[in-house]
Amino acid sequence: MIQVNARAVYDSEGPFKLTTIERRELEQKDVLIEIKYAGICHSDIHSARGDWGAVQYPLVPGHEIAGIITQIGTEVTKHAVGDRVGVGCMVDSCGDCVNCNKGVEQYCLNGMTGTYGAMDRYGHYTQGGYSTHIVVTEDFVVKIPDRLELDVAAPLLCAGITTYSPLRHWGAGPGKKIAVVGLGGLGHMGVKLAHAMGAEVTVLSQTLKKKEDGLQLGADNYYATSDPETFKTLAGTFDLIINTVSAEIDVNAYLSLLALDGTLVNVGAPAEPLSVHVMSLIGHRRSFAGSMIGGIRETQEMLDFCAEHNIAPEIEVIKANQIDEAWVRVLASDVRYRFVIDISTMENE
Ligand code: NAP
Ligand code: ZN
Repeated sequence: MIQVNARAVYDSEGPFKLTTIERRELEQKDVLIEIKYAGICHSDIHSARGDWGAVQYPLVPGHEIAGIITQIGTEVTKHAVGDRVGVGCMVDSCGDCVNCNKGVEQYCLNGMTGTYGAMDRYGHYTQGGYSTHIVVTEDFVVKIPDRLELDVAAPLLCAGITTYSPLRHWGAGPGKKIAVVGLGGLGHMGVKLAHAMGAEVTVLSQTLKKKEDGLQLGADNYYATSDPETFKTLAGTFDLIINTVSAEIDVNAYLSLLALDGTLVNVGAPAEPLSVHVMSLIGHRRSFAGSMIGGIRETQEMLDFCAEHNIAPEIEVIKANQIDEAWVRVLASDVRYRFVIDISTMENE
């Protein structure tokens, strides 16, 4: 086993502590990545706090990983030592089922292997990117285009692909009216991507505090959801709404903003169930859907799209000893717009 440094939580309250974890010795198809940057996703917090189910501690979160390959297994063909690469929310899948064969490994019928908090095919419990190195099978490693710096590339591996995939799937483009609910890590990427795809973009945020930012990111319109007038003004407007909110919202109120045949896609994954009145759907043949990250092929496509269109997340780079504070700020919706850990500071006190 390879010993590497990492930051882990030991219970649902935290705090993070510096520790050592083990990575497997390289299998034939594995690459060893020296992690340079790791983004902080709200999912890291949901997972560590047990919002989605029981957690095995210690847990090293982190599924927005950007780094450089320092070693490859004997049968690796897709990557080479020195390559700039990324790893997102999954590190393996069965590779055999109908969904894996379609390139949507995130929906693997046998269950994809999460980058952290999952049991891998070797019987090891996976640990994520808040660490100095990771070993991953080459098929789950994507290439970071030269035009993207590694620090801004990291959040694309989850926040980027999670918004890119539903925008593509539901046909975002010229002539489409799209709303993004919640201007956080995912939301701000949703705005940038939908704008670059040519859609008309509206931000639905709790307040107007971030309005100037939203318009600069590419939004055409910006409304506060705390203002009841917003729901009257925008009734029946949107072809697609991407809900990135990490907490429970009144789904029926947002469904009323959809045009005929419109779709509300939840990417936000709150612990609480959301309640839908069937009448909210029947009225205008509306749909309520979900979407989870994106497949490996589509993740590469998204990275190339971002490089081509000069799209990068707005980030605040922090030291490894500041993760606890960053989490508090994410929970308070005080993130502009993604925290990224500089992994070279891993050993700092
Ligand atoms: P984030 O940076 O915290 O952004 C969430 C945004 O939601 C906040 O900035 C805030 O925006 C809004 N919000 C927060 N609490 C709210 C409340 N009580 N009521 C209304 N709005 C609220 O989080 P993130 O990293 O973007 O992740 C967002 C969610 O997506 C999380 O639940 C995460 O687990 C989930 N996620 C899902 C996938 C997937 O594959 N489906 C992938 C990644 C993440 P405003 O301040 O603008 O209102
Ligand atoms: Zn994530």
